Amino acid sequence: MELEPVIGLEVHLQLATETKLFCSCQVKFAAEANSKVCPVCLGLPGSLPVINRKAIEYAVKVALALDCTIGDQVKFDRKNYYYPDLPKNYQISQYDMPLSYEGHILINSENKDKRIRIRRVHIEEDAGKLIHEKEYSLIDYNRTGIPLLEIVTEPDISSPDEAYKYLVTLKTLLKYLAVSDCDMEKGSLRCDANISLRVKGEEVLGTKTELKNMNSFKAVKAALEVEVKRQGRLLDEGKSVIQETLLWDEEKRTTIPMRSKEEASDYRYFPEPDLVPFAIEKKSLKEIRSSLPELPREKTKRIRQAYKLSEEEAQFLVTEQDMVEFFEDCNKLFKDSKSILNWIRGPLLYEINQRNKTISELFIKPEDFIKLIKLLKTDALSNLTAKSVLTLMIDRKKGPDEVINEEDLVQVSDEASLIKLAQEVILENKESVENFLSGKVKALMFLVGQVMRKSKGKANPKKVKELLERKLKEDKKDA
Ligand SMILES: [Zn+2]
Repeated sequence: MELEPVIGLEVHLQLATETKLFCSCQVKFAAEANSKVCPVCLGLPGSLPVINRKAIEYAVKVALALDCTIGDQVKFDRKNYYYPDLPKNYQISQYDMPLSYEGHILINSENKDKRIRIRRVHIEEDAGKLIHEKEYSLIDYNRTGIPLLEIVTEPDISSPDEAYKYLVTLKTLLKYLAVSDCDMEKGSLRCDANISLRVKGEEVLGTKTELKNMNSFKAVKAALEVEVKRQGRLLDEGKSVIQETLLWDEEKRTTIPMRSKEEASDYRYFPEPDLVPFAIEKKSLKEIRSSLPELPREKTKRIRQAYKLSEEEAQFLVTEQDMVEFFEDCNKLFKDSKSILNWIRGPLLYEINQRNKTISELFIKPEDFIKLIKLLKTDALSNLTAKSVLTLMIDRKKGPDEVINEEDLVQVSDEASLIKLAQEVILENKESVENFLSGKVKALMFLVGQVMRKSKGKANPKKVKELLERKLKEDKKDA
């Protein structure tokens, strides 16, 4: 009996508003503990919440980009539970009338489009942060009341790998919308997963478990893989899966049951009496819709056609918004999309990874990048030198011409100086010369390398090879 995983994901996204969801406290990461709090976010008696318009606008942006239906009424509810990170003993969330529902996103799975349905996207406030020490716990309420967006899928994801792809696709979309920094390390993006196994081809779902505490997309994938195996083993042995919440232990690569007191079973939702339900005006909806940027999917399709790229190449560029913008800006200056792409994917990506920065943080101008590619194309620079020029351009925030002048890096192509170097090398390497003349082609490359070394990498290797070959054949005739 073949089993297949059924996975649903829940993403919590911190919206990048300047102030909190229901008060004017500043949202600031790593601020001094409890320095960004007020009676409203602490839920002190007599305080009243006031909705942050920007948070609603950001939420609507995401909902529209996910093709969700926007609810006629936006209603907030109190989700009641007791936990020390929740000073009011309830969290303001949305229950039966969420901001939006029934959307979808397309992901690329096994080279095909797969539709993952979005069950709902709703707004809620974040809770505080507990810091557990050995003998006591501390609470920082700065995070309390920060606007969160909860994005919940239907159980349409069929493998840990698909879960990973969904998260990457969703994150790219969210970054395009500029509604969050999506930084998992800062907790701006968090993910929980539901998973069960069922007999392949059948509709009935098995008992699911919930996975929490995964702090990277890779961890989500790893935790799901471990859980698929664990549940499969239980079912193979004729045992049953218990519905429970599991925590991912990154170090031990295993899931462990959450202590039961950390689980709240009955939330006793009821409408938030201090916030009346409201409708989002048609006019604002229209405005927000028209403010949406070109989204990753459309962009991939467009640049694929415009620059004759493969799906994989287009997707590589589109994953980072500033990367695809850089690519398009370069193409406006120089119609050679293949060279531009190769130089972005090769040397430029190397610099990006080495420095752990984004392309815009390197401050490299498209004009300068194109100048460099052109110098390479006209043989003014060797491939190797061009790479060092790029490094120096980024280090010194200068154009290629300046760097080349400062370092005297122009490729030597004039025959007189190259012949001189070639002659020296021929005299100094008699054995290799003989080897070449007796038919060992490899020996020529060694001689080319010697000339390159003498020129400190500035000789034009193609020219050197031609010259050496010609010279050696002449010498042979003379002998
Ligand atoms: Zn506040």
